[in-house]
Amino acid sequence: MCGIVGYLGNRQATDVLVDGLSKLEYRGYDSAGVAVNNGKNELEIRKFQGRLAVLAEDLEKNPIKGHLGIGHTRWATHGVPSDVNSHPHFNKEKTIAVVHNGIIENYLELKAELQAEGYEFISQTDTEVVPNLIDYYFTSDKSQNTIEKFLRAVKNAVSDLK
Ligand code: GLU
Repeated sequence: MCGIVGYLGNRQATDVLVDGLSKLEYRGYDSAGVAVNNGKNELEIRKFQGRLAVLAEDLEKNPIKGHLGIGHTRWATHGVPSDVNSHPHFNKEKTIAVVHNGIIENYLELKAELQAEGYEFISQTDTEVVPNLIDYYFTSDKSQNTIEKFLRAVKNAVSDLK
């Protein structure tokens, strides 16, 4: 079993995320990672195979400043434990980051459909289809309202997942 933590608030997100993930360590995991909005409208993503301490040390040496983020400890089901297979997973532009617990049963089918649309994958995980599927629905929606468009893209993507 792995763990998921999310934070939006006044504190530095990475402090809360690492603290939250440390409380979930007992569940077991093989890697840990975070994605944080750095306030410049960019997602900074750090993820490493191994103990949470590896991630925590990296964040101490080179902090990410930001108040919104997600964190994950992974227990690999699809793809070996590695930095690349660690969560969060993201789309090519790194505008959408996803953490996920469990298994996406129809990921091969979804991956093939996305590859036919020109999407490329860098990990062996089932999870990586999710940010790319959201990206696909988001970019094919021509409406101007970004928030509504994003919510619609997430809903459409989720309804495709088994
Ligand atoms: N199936 C996903 C993976 O292998 C998530 C595993 C988990 O629940 O941590 O990356």
